Amino acid sequence: MKFTQPKLPYTPDALAPVISQMTVEYHWGKHEKAYIDTLNRLVEGTSFADAPIEQIIRDAEAGPLLNNAAQAWNHIFYFFQFSPTGRREPQGALHQKIVDTFGSFDDFKKAAEQAGATLFGSGWVWLSTDTDGNLFLTQGANADNPMRHGLKPLLTIDVWEHAYYLDYQNRRPDYLHTVWDIIDWEVIEGRYAS
Ligand code: MN
Repeated sequence: MKFTQPKLPYTPDALAPVISQMTVEYHWGKHEKAYIDTLNRLVEGTSFADAPIEQIIRDAEAGPLLNNAAQAWNHIFYFFQFSPTGRREPQGALHQKIVDTFGSFDDFKKAAEQAGATLFGSGWVWLSTDTDGNLFLTQGANADNPMRHGLKPLLTIDVWEHAYYLDYQNRRPDYLHTVWDIIDWEVIEGRYAS
């Protein structure tokens, strides 16, 4: 299967100043493009040649094919949860579950920021759910993805340096504290409900 990079549903400057146009152009335009190009090259001739990307992420053994498939998927999931005009707080069943699990929406955000700040090296912070609708906040190193661990991802924050260094330099906590301003909770609720 030939994987293609979707077109973002907003212009490259739409997330500024939280994420600058230059970061979108490098992170989505160059890093993500390279993951997809490499995935297409590596998957050729393997038993996953016709598999959906999610199957590669669940079943491939550790190595370059898994890493590039997961990174390709993770970045699409990350960039498509943002909107310059979205709703900034969860509602309904997801909001209630966040309150039940973390105490409040603010407590959830604090816990996610803490998870991102304390993740050593490169990786992702994930909010995921299981088949019973329970919520899980986890750190994933490098190209990890909750689908590897039987969970369904709902939200992710990329804490690789390329995600924030142009805009925040070494201030990863500032990036984590500001990123809420561009997350569209209608998207996250849609993932939770599906
Ligand atoms: Mn990234």
